[in-house]
Amino acid sequence: MRHLLILGPPGAGKGTQSVLIAERLHIKHLSTGDVLRNAVEEKSELGLKAKAIIEAGSLVSDDIMIGIIYDALKVKGMRKGFILDGFPRTIKQAAALDVLLSELGYPPILVINIVVPEEELIQRMLGRGRNDDSADTARHRLAIFREQTEPLIEHYSKKSALINIDGVGTIGEINDRIFERLNAC
Ligand code: AMP
Repeated sequence: MRHLLILGPPGAGKGTQSVLIAERLHIKHLSTGDVLRNAVEEKSELGLKAKAIIEAGSLVSDDIMIGIIYDALKVKGMRKGFILDGFPRTIKQAAALDVLLSELGYPPILVINIVVPEEELIQRMLGRGRNDDSADTARHRLAIFREQTEPLIEHYSKKSALINIDGVGTIGEINDRIFERLNAC
């Protein structure tokens, strides 16, 4: 039973690796980006609020995101294990998650931090053809990552187990590196 969180810049392959990890460990994959994209597709109230923010590569408000995670973590199936992908992205979100996990009685989470050099990230984002991946938006998303999300690495290295993974290579190579480390702890 694993309770995992995957951290890393946009374009690092968090989504791809999370899906593979969730399948292999039979745990739930919770991607806040997917939740928001589905909401946009469905034109729900959340989707209408989030659409322009996502397209600009900015962050949806902490309160909205914390609400989404709160609802998701209460779902029964999550007890058997999960991997959070795309949340938290700010210190405020991380602090809320800490409280929520302890309130709901989850064990401490293990953090997988995917590390990829900047030049490679821009290339990857431009290659995947998502409509929030134009050159300007990609750069904006990276700047926001550096400013708001990167400090989480320090937050988690102090309080949780944090595994750094070299995110350069093929999908299979990176996946092997993750499981080598996961199997050891
Ligand atoms: P992702 O698929 O994780 O790259 O997320 C796509 C977009 O959804 C991001 O660029 C943000 O606009 C929004 N988003 C996803 N997760 C969060 C979050 N935890 N906090 C704020 N915005 C988020």
